[in-house]
Amino acid sequence: MNKTHLLSLLAISVLLGSCEPDEELSEYDCEEWTTACADSSIVVDPLKSNRKVLIIGIDGFRADAMQDTITPFLFSLAQSPNTYYTNQNHVQSLTFSGPNWSSLCTGVDFCKHMVTTNGFGDNHLVEYPHFFQYIEQANSSKNTVSVVNWTPINTHLSSPFADYSPTESITDHDVFLITNNLLLQGVPLNPDILFLQFDELDGAGHSYGFHPNVPEYRATLNTLDAYIDSIYSIIEAKRSNGEEWLFCVISDHGGDGKGHSGKYDNEHVKHTIMFMNAPLESFKHWHTSSQTDLAPTVLDYLGIESAEFNCKTDGISVLQ
Ligand SMILES: [Zn+2]
Repeated sequence: MNKTHLLSLLAISVLLGSCEPDEELSEYDCEEWTTACADSSIVVDPLKSNRKVLIIGIDGFRADAMQDTITPFLFSLAQSPNTYYTNQNHVQSLTFSGPNWSSLCTGVDFCKHMVTTNGFGDNHLVEYPHFFQYIEQANSSKNTVSVVNWTPINTHLSSPFADYSPTESITDHDVFLITNNLLLQGVPLNPDILFLQFDELDGAGHSYGFHPNVPEYRATLNTLDAYIDSIYSIIEAKRSNGEEWLFCVISDHGGDGKGHSGKYDNEHVKHTIMFMNAPLESFKHWHTSSQTDLAPTVLDYLGIESAEFNCKTDGISVLQ
């Protein structure tokens, strides 16, 4: 491991799509990491090789908006004995979309993947790839799919590895409709691993305020809750037919006032929700998750043991 100290950098860049009303301000102090991981072996547990995963990402989810009157479905999901839930999931200290979606997808902190803006410039995503890379390496016949409103996720993170990751601009409702086509019709393919991202809650927060009492923020979150309820019903039907699915709901950051960038000292920004749901699984309920825990949890559920990923990740699986 070779560490070279970098000067604290100040970067101001033009925002893309998500978070437009913010001026993005990246101020960070990183050690430069070169992780030497010589062992590239990968092993798959045959008992888990048919398992599937659905991940639903919601941009800008302030955790105290997770209430029975706003998100009745998620509120009940959080109570389920088959669910790991926290409202204290720890976000990256760069509290905007690029670094956080990158840490969720790669399982490493931003000082490794070096996505420090929403423009994704000068990143180290080749060394620290999306977890799709390890799934495809373990079994290239698995269908990895990513459908997102905020397209930089697919452009920069998913596309090099995914079997289907459209990069045209779409709405949250489009994400929902495409998800129905994928899960119910297998169109354009049957996903084994499906990653979704909804972006309009973040837009409502920037326009009207990130707060459970702001009507527009509540209404947008309530609509998303209905989408998620509907998608969960599809997964439950598949589970009834013998399929094994991990169902995850995550977010990149919270929000306060009309923003979130540069607010790592604000508890409504630095903590957000994380849900992991699977019947017959035990969870580390004592553990408070971080963004880097999603990728190791997904690979653990799928029974994929990658020496390289284990060497690089900063997260842990929340499965017992
Ligand atoms: Zn934003």
